[in-house]
Amino acid sequence: MESIKRVYKIGPGPSSSHTIGPYNAAKDFLNTYKDFDEVVIDLYGSLALTGKGHGTDKILLKAFENYKAIINFHYTFDDIDHPNTLDFSIFKNGKIINKTRYYSIGGGDILKQGQKIEKSKEIYPFNSFNGLKNYLNKHNLASIVDVVDEFEDKDVNDFLFKIFKAMIHEIESNLKKEGYLPGNLGVKKVAKNIYEKALDEKDEFERKILFITSYAYAASEGNADGDLVVTAPTCGSCGVLPSILYYEYKHNNINIDKIVGALKVAGLLTNIVIKNASISGATLGCQAEIGTASAIASGALCYLHDMSVYQIEYASELALEHFLGLTCDPVNGYVQIPCIERNGIGALRSLISYIYAKDISILRRNKVSFDEVVKAMKITGDSLSKDYKETSIGGLAKIIKK
Ligand code: SF4
Repeated sequence: MESIKRVYKIGPGPSSSHTIGPYNAAKDFLNTYKDFDEVVIDLYGSLALTGKGHGTDKILLKAFENYKAIINFHYTFDDIDHPNTLDFSIFKNGKIINKTRYYSIGGGDILKQGQKIEKSKEIYPFNSFNGLKNYLNKHNLASIVDVVDEFEDKDVNDFLFKIFKAMIHEIESNLKKEGYLPGNLGVKKVAKNIYEKALDEKDEFERKILFITSYAYAASEGNADGDLVVTAPTCGSCGVLPSILYYEYKHNNINIDKIVGALKVAGLLTNIVIKNASISGATLGCQAEIGTASAIASGALCYLHDMSVYQIEYASELALEHFLGLTCDPVNGYVQIPCIERNGIGALRSLISYIYAKDISILRRNKVSFDEVVKAMKITGDSLSKDYKETSIGGLAKIIKK
């Protein structure tokens, strides 16, 4: 597997595959071609169906701000071999000089047609959780963090420190904001109000739930507003892991070095999902985004509480297992309904999975491994209709019309 640094990117919301990916494609294209006066951008499949709500058009117009740009939306999956496909056709003096196709393949990563998925260096000698456990056993290592430290560059701690700082900023800045999110859904920002309720809440259990929820909402509302967020592992699911880590940092006095360790655990778990399935809602539905986010957050939480590798696997498997089949159906293409609430629920699922791993895993061994649930997610997602893969055609998006 590759470096865990590929997992965490800081970029503009609301969608890693619909904003960061297309923006990266435009930047890549502009590295090669500069001498033209007009660009025609053709968006296909999910990029067309949810491109307006996700702000794909706005981010591309920004990328090509020095040129005349026309965007066409093709609401079809015919003749494309990836659900997030886009073409750039450039013209000079009215004559076409190049047409290049890109795919936005998830988490902000892109692929140019004809290119193989660029293999940045594979640095880990395993591709699965089982492989990770075998490595730990063989080398007598107790912690997943030891393995990450063995294979990553020395600067990984500084990198993850910056990532956590960005997560803190995305939460704290959005806990102060009020007003409405962009678009025609009329969704009010409520993270600040939830946080104030948490401060007043006397019941300890409810207070904790409200604090975590306010942090998850803050990051997700910021994402829906186009703020810079950390893909954790995607923009749409950017509230889950940060809310859990921020809660532990703020309320349980967990120090930042330990949080960096938790980001290593979460990064390695994400890498296993990327390697064996996908983290893209357009590819496998929301199980791949919120399901993965919840799984990695619960694994990170177990690590923060010094639980065993077996318990980390138990919690991560559990969190993902009970999101299997979760569809991606953002209403009107905005990463607002159901996405913001879903981040809150995903964070709370992480908390519950951690508690189960702590208290129930010792009563009965889990019969399902993390690798098996990732495999189940892939076959479930592959058989899901495209209506439920970030197209805003099915599910809630079909029922709720605004
Ligand atoms: S429904 Fe889930 S996968 Fe789809 S855009 Fe929202 S958060 Fe992302």
